[in-house]
Parts: sequence; C-alpha cells; structure tokens
Amino acid sequence: MTSTASVVESPLAKVRGEIARACAQAGRDPATVTLVAIAKTFGAAAIEPVIAQGQRVFGENRVQEAKAKWPPLRERYGGLELHLVGPLQSNKAKEAVAMFEAIHSLDRPSLAEALAKEIAKQGRKPALFIELNTGAEPQKSGVLPEQADGFVAACRNRYALEIAGLMCLPPAGEAPAPHFALTAKIARRNGLAFLSMGMSADFPIAIQFGATHVRVGTAIFGERRQVRF
Ligand SMILES: *Cc1c(COP(=O)(O)O)cnc(C)c1O
Repeated sequence: MTSTASVVESPLAKVRGEIARACAQAGRDPATVTLVAIAKTFGAAAIEPVIAQGQRVFGENRVQEAKAKWPPLRERYGGLELHLVGPLQSNKAKEAVAMFEAIHSLDRPSLAEALAKEIAKQGRKPALFIELNTGAEPQKSGVLPEQADGFVAACRNRYALEIAGLMCLPPAGEAPAPHFALTAKIARRNGLAFLSMGMSADFPIAIQFGATHVRVGTAIFGERRQVRF
C-alpha cells in the first residue's frame, strides 16, 4: 500500500512540477529553466524551509532588504545564488555588484556606467539582464522596445558590459504572451541567450516563449503581507 495520496505536495514542489510540465509541452529541457524564488517581504523562517527543499536561487527587489536578510543565511547554507529583480539606484551599484549573482533591472546608461565601474573595481561579474518596458507604461522602469537594440549596443561597446539577456514585466491585466514574444524576438536579434520572464500567474506561458529564468514569489511563499520585512 502506498500513501502517496495523503502526501501534501509543497508549493515549491508544485511550481517545479508545473515548470517540468510546461517544458515537456514546449519540447524543452527543464534544466534550461532556472527558478528564481522571489523572497521579498519574507524572513528567514519562511525562506529556510525552501532552502531545505533544495532551492538555491533566490530573488529580492530591494538592496537594503537583501543586505539585512541574506548574509546570515549565506553563512548557514552553501551555494546560494541571489538575484536582484527590483529597480536599482546608481548609488547602490557598489552594494549590488558585491551582493548579487545576477541583476535583472539594468535600464539606463547611468546605471550601466555605474555597474561597469564597480565590476571593474570589484572583479565580480553579476549576470546582467536589461529590463524592457514592453508595454511602454510611463510609471514603469525599463527600456522601450524601440530603444532596446541601441541600449544593448551601448552597454557592450561604450561600457564593455557583458549582457546575459533581457527581462520583462508585462502590464498587469494584459495577456502576457505578446510581451514575452516581443522580448524573445529582441533577445534573438541581439544574440542574447537568457530571458527573465514569467511570474506566479504566468510562468508556464513564459516558458512556452523561451523563458530561461522564471521569477516566482507568491506561488512558493504565499501572499505577501503589506508590512515589509
Ligand atoms: C515580486 C516580483 C516577482 C514575483 O511575483 P509573484 O507574482 O509573487 O510571483 C517577479 N518579478 C519581480 C520584478 C517582482 O518584483
């Protein structure tokens, strides 16, 4: 007799299962999709059980919050990889280069310049994703699609930055697929291998469109309370 029916699958296991299913449907190897567990607003008590299930790649959207939370966790657990997915002020480039293995929010020349300076100085090379504002939303950061090729070229030629890929955050309430498709198209024509797209509500769709990094918070950690960590 097996008792599998009574075993409650963890939210993380469910997300992994959905990633595997989406990859199978798209004819992709699940190893080509990195799950970035977005831990913003959650403290160590919520994060440690996820680490215990083998998750090693985490994301935060604020430098200050990451600085408070992750150094003690890094002392306790090996192999952690931390990604910044929120906006980055140029004056925090130094801390960001020191702390993160990837930055998903490169969106302007002044930040490219600040990151280039710190990368040269620190000899650390976080993977850099250029954030696109595919919906051309005025309140949102990100490079407009029509300016993307020029910005990729400027990052490479003027600032000698290695660009890993593109990131997008489709407008709320719109079908995400066209935004994922556009992001993938811009990446392809610029020779960029990595695509950071898809969140709790839409990561299986993002995988169909080639996402290599899905940024999933709520589906792993539950709803965020208003109060921040
Ligand atoms: C919070 C956040 C996510 C995760 O969103 P969920 O809907 O909770 O999965 C992904 N990307 C960015 C940039 C975020 O700020």
